[in-house]
Amino acid sequence: MELVILSGKGGTGKTTIGVALAQLAQEVVGIDCDVDAANMYLYYQGEDIEKQKFYSGKKAVVHESQCTQCGQCQEVCHFGAIQQGKIDLFACEGCGACTLVCPQKAIALVDEKAAQVFVTQLEKGMILSRAEMEIGSDGSGKLVTQLRTNGRKFSKNKKVIIVDGSPGIGCPVIASMTGSDAVLLVAEPTLSGLEDIKRVITLCEHFQLLTLVCINKYDMNEEISRKIESFVHQKQLKIVGKIPYDETVIQSINELSPIVTYENSIAAKAIEDMWEKIKIKLGGMKNESSHCK
Ligand code: SF4
Ligand code: SF4
Repeated sequence: MELVILSGKGGTGKTTIGVALAQLAQEVVGIDCDVDAANMYLYYQGEDIEKQKFYSGKKAVVHESQCTQCGQCQEVCHFGAIQQGKIDLFACEGCGACTLVCPQKAIALVDEKAAQVFVTQLEKGMILSRAEMEIGSDGSGKLVTQLRTNGRKFSKNKKVIIVDGSPGIGCPVIASMTGSDAVLLVAEPTLSGLEDIKRVITLCEHFQLLTLVCINKYDMNEEISRKIESFVHQKQLKIVGKIPYDETVIQSINELSPIVTYENSIAAKAIEDMWEKIKIKLGGMKNESSHCK
């Protein structure tokens, strides 16, 4: 069973909930597709058992000894990425136009390393597939797909795959969700949160995925929470959790410990109840979650 956790944008508590659900699921593969702000790994001790370079595209390089400073490459570059035979690697889009016009054949396109990808063996048999981005690189659908492929290789003996999806509705999000069994949307009770969740629901409808919704910190604005609930019901979707504001969540983030390890946390209790509902929705997985201490 592969559950993807999404929200319309960052900062809704998606990772807090993802880490909590992974902790409850126990026999789990976690895939951190929020590659621009990957932080699931911070909550665990572990050992990298796979490590590889991920290349996202091409960049131009100039062999300076061959360059005669004719300036033809500069004229043809639409991205202002080349001046006096020197490439600005942050501006170069790897289009290759300069390589075509250089009379000295002094420019070549080379693979650009965008990230290092890891499979990390964590405590209690958990596996985490994750990436560390190179400075200046963006998360891409291709990278997200690579992370899911890496994680799925280890899913044979695991009951659940929990994917911490990318925020927004762009290509990395689509790559996070396609082919999964279900999506859990994390909404926050603000007016912008309501609009964000409408957009992601439209995306889920397009891909015809089983879509569940939870409202995080629902009691911060109960009026907007009711509007979110009403919209979700209009769409004939199910609210599986309403998680109250709980200062213990801030403590858990500061201590980098999953919220479900805090025995008296009301947010943890709500997430545990939600996990039971998710399991029922997803076809009666065995009742094997626990309050981990
Ligand atoms: S590869 Fe394209 S973007 Fe990069 S320097 Fe050459 S022309 Fe400019
Ligand atoms: S086109 Fe080739 S030779 Fe001319 S400036 Fe660019 S790299 Fe140098």
